[in-house]
Amino acid sequence: MDLDQLQRTLAAAGEPPFRARQVWDWMARGAASYDEMTNLPAALRERLAAELPFSTLELEREARASDGTEKALFRTADGRPLEAVLMRYGDGRRSLCLSSQSGCPLTCTFCATGRMKFGRNLTASEILDQALHFRRAEPVDHAVFMGMGEPLMNVDNVLAACERLPAIGITHRRTGISTVGWIPGIERLTECDMPLRLALSLHAADEALRSELMPVNERHPLADVLEACLRWHDRRRMPVFVEYLMLDGVNDRYEQALKLAELLHPRKAFKVNLIPYNPTDAGFQGSSRAAIDAFRRALEERGVRVTVRLTRGRDIDAACGQLAARAAT
Ligand code: SAH
Repeated sequence: MDLDQLQRTLAAAGEPPFRARQVWDWMARGAASYDEMTNLPAALRERLAAELPFSTLELEREARASDGTEKALFRTADGRPLEAVLMRYGDGRRSLCLSSQSGCPLTCTFCATGRMKFGRNLTASEILDQALHFRRAEPVDHAVFMGMGEPLMNVDNVLAACERLPAIGITHRRTGISTVGWIPGIERLTECDMPLRLALSLHAADEALRSELMPVNERHPLADVLEACLRWHDRRRMPVFVEYLMLDGVNDRYEQALKLAELLHPRKAFKVNLIPYNPTDAGFQGSSRAAIDAFRRALEERGVRVTVRLTRGRDIDAACGQLAARAAT
């Protein structure tokens, strides 16, 4: 729901300010229509239903993978495509992967979103409506901004959405923002009062290779990015999650693991997450399982904390870096 428009509609109807809060409380608890909002006068419910679309997003398509992962393809009111994903885990965790932009202006060479046309930043309401879509079906408790777009290039709207996620069931500590290393945005996160998690898409420990894979590295070189991450860590006392995509013959050699281990100091400030590459049509091959294990051991032997990411939703193109809204463009 467009929360600014809600304010305006309520003001125009001469309603007291607490009404906006009532409507939001219903939405956040998963209400699926104005009819359910029984503490609102019936006439107001009717007026809202006539004047204010229940969501800023139109659901265009939904797909469910064999592992229970669900992907939703939406369109904004001005026709921009975006996708969001719900991952269900065996321990009951329900984690959302949210988009912050329609498309992405950065052009990381391995990423499907980076290859589609950039549309625009999503509003806070458009970000929240992705979460509310899934919340209407079931409770959710984690979120990561790892869908389309670079969240820290849209930091005002992303933070405004994060302010409201706890009402939906997702605390700040269970909300993660993933970035290519957009330094002004990392600084904003360091200053802000919400204890949100930070994930850095690193992918190469060497500046030249990183610039090849992620042209944004020319603007924000890795060395500066890591300094900004350490300042964030000093304030938050939580580890930075380092995402490292495993690309066959590109960044998965033993020496490259050593180089990565050298960069990540102090050890307690970082946790590495090795990401199996999900095929797109970008021309890269994912590293073999054996290569990922060897890379992992090389890091562990040097005291780096490492996990290997579980791939989810591959059969519906809902896995990391696959969100490209192909069907919608
Ligand atoms: N712009 C942000 C968030 C979106 S991408 C960022 O880059 O962090 C979320 C993660 O998915 C990033 O780590 C990105 O590098 C990774 N990713 C992109 N394409 C991928 C692919 N094909 N397979 C696996 N991970 C991919």
